[in-house]
Amino acid sequence: MLRIAHLYPDEMNIYGDRGNILTLQKRAQWRGIQVEVRAIGRGPSPDLSDVDLIFWGGGQDRDQELVFTDAATHKVESIRGALADGAVVLAVCGGYQLLGEYYVTAEGKQLPGLELVELHTVPGPKRNIGNIVIETRDLGLQPATLVGFENHSGRTYLGPGLTPLGRVLRGAGNNGQDGTEGVAAGNIFGTYLHGSLLPKNPHFADLLLDRALRRRGSVRLQPLDDTVELSAHETIRARVGAAG
Ligand code: GLN
Repeated sequence: MLRIAHLYPDEMNIYGDRGNILTLQKRAQWRGIQVEVRAIGRGPSPDLSDVDLIFWGGGQDRDQELVFTDAATHKVESIRGALADGAVVLAVCGGYQLLGEYYVTAEGKQLPGLELVELHTVPGPKRNIGNIVIETRDLGLQPATLVGFENHSGRTYLGPGLTPLGRVLRGAGNNGQDGTEGVAAGNIFGTYLHGSLLPKNPHFADLLLDRALRRRGSVRLQPLDDTVELSAHETIRARVGAAG
């Protein structure tokens, strides 16, 4: 059994972010693993101590404002507890920004983050919109690339000890300046890649599943036929001129 918590599905779910949940669900079920998805909205948090994977999608600044106090008041302790117990977090764009120390909206309002990772986000002069391809390292992904679609005005800067999820091959990534994209800090993964991310990056979906299932003892994931998914991946790489 795999238990997934989907944080704020009503407030934060843009550019097909929910597709990430469907991908995780299907890829587990195709291997005979039962999946329970819990939608976690605003208000006192239900117990997350048995959750294996927490997903948080992106949102407009106003949606982020709606949830940030709720997350800081009701969710952060449960998320910390789940992480300490081996759970995995995947946060995309607006969710990624709120994992850090603070997020300054395009209008200049500073929203305190959950301080789960040492990063912060400030508004940039223009929105970064378009296809993005990054190259991961040290995660053992084959292919090493991840493809997606980014749309954000926030520029994220990682603290000195943090490793990005990848290096930008095409697109802007964290801030359009230092060539980094996302963060990979233990079992916390943050990224600007919508698209949604996981349908076109089945190898990354399996990495998350593998890590999430590990806390329940090792489960060997049987390989799946990913011809269609990887062809979508390759199409994006070719479209932006980052083909392998
Ligand atoms: N509102 C944030 C920004 O513009 C996040 C947008 C998103 O989640 N796509 O940076």
